[in-house]
Amino acid sequence: MACVVENSSLASRHAFMKDCSPIKEKVTKKRRFVDESKCPLVEYDSLPCYQKHNEFIIKYYRSEWPLRETILSIFSIHNETLNVWTHLIGFFIFLSLTVFATMNFPTSLQKTQSETIDIHRFNKLNTSLHSSEVISTLSSNWNLPNLIADFVLPHRSYQPNETTASILWGVKEDVTNIIAPLMDRQTTRWPFFAFMSGAMFCLLMSSLCHLLSCHSHCYDYVMLRLDYTGISSLIVTSFYPLVFYSFMCDPFFRNLYMSFITLFGVATVLVSLVPIFQTPEFRPARAGLFVCMGVSGLVPILHKMILFGDRAEVVESTGYELLMGLFYALGVVVYAARIPERWLPGKFDLIGHSHQWFHVLVVAGAYTHYLAGTVYLKWRDVEGC
Ligand SMILES: [Zn+2]
Repeated sequence: MACVVENSSLASRHAFMKDCSPIKEKVTKKRRFVDESKCPLVEYDSLPCYQKHNEFIIKYYRSEWPLRETILSIFSIHNETLNVWTHLIGFFIFLSLTVFATMNFPTSLQKTQSETIDIHRFNKLNTSLHSSEVISTLSSNWNLPNLIADFVLPHRSYQPNETTASILWGVKEDVTNIIAPLMDRQTTRWPFFAFMSGAMFCLLMSSLCHLLSCHSHCYDYVMLRLDYTGISSLIVTSFYPLVFYSFMCDPFFRNLYMSFITLFGVATVLVSLVPIFQTPEFRPARAGLFVCMGVSGLVPILHKMILFGDRAEVVESTGYELLMGLFYALGVVVYAARIPERWLPGKFDLIGHSHQWFHVLVVAGAYTHYLAGTVYLKWRDVEGC
C-alpha cells in the first residue's frame, strides 16, 4: 500500500526532511549502541530526523526495526515500553467499564425488548414511599396529590370493614404500581457510550502509535495522525454526555454546543494532517490546539451551573468535570514542558519521563469523566425532561 507520505506535499516534505540526510548517514555508523544483534537500541543522536522528538531522552530508542520485531517489542524494555502499556492498560480499563455500564445501565432498546419491571427497584420504591424526601421529589415532578386524586381514589372500591391503615396501605400500593414504570423510564444512552468509544479509540491508537511509529517514516506519519485523531475523538466525545444530558430539554443549545465541538474536532484533525504540524517547533501549538478545544468545555459547564446549579447531581458532575480538567491541564503542562527529563537528561529514559505521566493523567481524566457520565444517566433517568 502506498504510504500517505508519498502523496503529501512534496515541498513541505522536502523542507521537513532536508536536515535529515546527514543524520541518515550517521545512523549506519552509530547504530551499535547495545551490541551487534539484529535490532539494537540506539541513542538520540543516531536517530533519523523524524524520530527526534525529545532530546532529553537519550538512550534506549528503537529505530527502523523490521515490523515483526517492532510488534514483538511490546514485550521488551525500551524507552516506549511504558508509553505503550500505560494506554493499553487504560484501553482495557475502559473496555471493562463499558461492559460494566452495558450490564448496569441497559439501553432503552434493551429495556423495550424485555418489557420487564425491575423488581428490586420496585420493592425499594414501595418500601420507601413513606419517605418525605421521595414523596417530595415525586410531588414536584409528577404531582403526587393529583395522581392520587385523579387515578387512585376514583378506581378504588372500599369495604365496610376496612380500617384507615389498610386503606392508606392500599393507596400506597396503587401509587407505587403507577409510578414504578415511570421510574424505570430511561434517557438515551448513545452520548455516554459515544464517550466510552472515543476514550477507547484514543487509548488504543495512542498505544499502537507508540509501538509502531519507530518502524519507518511512513508508519510514523500515519500513526501520529491516528494518534491526533484519537485525542480529538476523546475531547469531542467528552462533550457529548455533558452537553446532551445538561441541555436534553433545550434542543437549541444542545445542538449548538454539539455541532460546535464536533466541527472544532474535525478542524483539528484536518490541521494535524499538515506535515509541518509534526515538527518539534510545533509542540506548543499542538498542545495549544487541544487545550483550546478542551477549554471551550467551560462554556456549557458554566451554562449548566447557571440553569441547574441547585441540583446535587449537577454539582457532583461539575466536580468530576473540574477534576478531569485539572488532570488534563497538568498532563498538557508536563507534556509541553517535558518535565522531569529536562532537569536530568537521560535519567528518566525508561521510567518516569513526561510522556508516561501525560498518559497516566489522561487515563485519570477520562475516568473522572466516566464517573460524571454515570451521574448524568442517574439524574436524567429519574427526572426525565
Ligand atoms: Zn502518547
